[in-house]
Amino acid sequence: MSEEFSRAVLTWYDQFGRKDLPWQQDMTPYRVWVSEIMLQQTQVATVIPYYARFMRALPDVQALAAADADEVLHLWTGLGYYSRARSLHRTAQIVVDEHGGEFPVGVDALQALPGIGRSTAGAIASLSMGLRAPILDGNVKRVLARYHAVEGWPGTRAVEDRMWEIAERYTPPRRFNHYTQAMMDLGATLCTRSKPSCLLCPVQAGCEARRLGTPTAYPHSKPRKALPVRQCIMPLMVNPDGDIWLQRRPDSGLWGGLWCPPQLDDRGELEQLLQQNGWQLRQQQELEPLRHTFSHFHLDIQPLLVRVQPTSGVAEAGQLWYNLRQPTRLGLAAPVSKLLERVERILAA
Ligand code: SF4
Repeated sequence: MSEEFSRAVLTWYDQFGRKDLPWQQDMTPYRVWVSEIMLQQTQVATVIPYYARFMRALPDVQALAAADADEVLHLWTGLGYYSRARSLHRTAQIVVDEHGGEFPVGVDALQALPGIGRSTAGAIASLSMGLRAPILDGNVKRVLARYHAVEGWPGTRAVEDRMWEIAERYTPPRRFNHYTQAMMDLGATLCTRSKPSCLLCPVQAGCEARRLGTPTAYPHSKPRKALPVRQCIMPLMVNPDGDIWLQRRPDSGLWGGLWCPPQLDDRGELEQLLQQNGWQLRQQQELEPLRHTFSHFHLDIQPLLVRVQPTSGVAEAGQLWYNLRQPTRLGLAAPVSKLLERVERILAA
């Protein structure tokens, strides 16, 4: 099965694979390494002009090691993730100072250098050192996760180990350099993140995600953490005219600048609120709870419909009696709008 897979990938590569990328010419460990680092988090089309400029200015590891840090960062300007450039510079100095200007041979030795992970080491070894070594960059991971419909998020150790085991198994004993390039191309051009072109894919016949009809579900995304739950009481104070008391929230923080009923921690605070404002409690009714989800927590709201008799009809600055029938144009938080609609229905009944 693995032989069939790599044969199909290589046949496709011979016909459709990319063979004229700048780093595919005159392949040396240095040239492959720089391209691999640039291609992390950056598309091929963006990288090409940067790569050409970088190679013109710093054609080998000695030139990079001797360059000024400002010069390296200048050549990187626009590519983003500047820690990559700093680590590239540091690694070049280590290669020159500790390895006589030659990249150490083999995945383990390469991986010992700063900024070189297992996949980058595999690419350098396979593409420029004539060593059979699997890679598992984002593109390859996507193809293999889909081909096997691998369950689980590849960020976990167990799933990552499984993916490496598959990558290792499929890497052929010969033409592994072409296979490495082919897998990167397949992921970048056909098995794309959101619109895989399965009908053109050389491995479609055995692809499990395609069979299931759910290629884009793989690889699974990072599971969302269970959000903490906070609770509050939200009293909707209603005066005899059927208006609701709202306060403008401070500009910063939750619902900054929007108008809301008070948000209380417990019923004791409700007593205080009534006393502070000189309101007489006429009736109190619990409404159905409401959950509102923020990016970092759920807020469980217990709304209370509180009919009050205010002693004064005048609200202070930052407070108002909101007329539900002729609403003022002001900013309301989404759950507050929902609650006001509910109250309006209750009052109209
Ligand atoms: S058949 Fe589709 S999902 Fe499967 S590897 Fe090919 S392009 Fe990706």
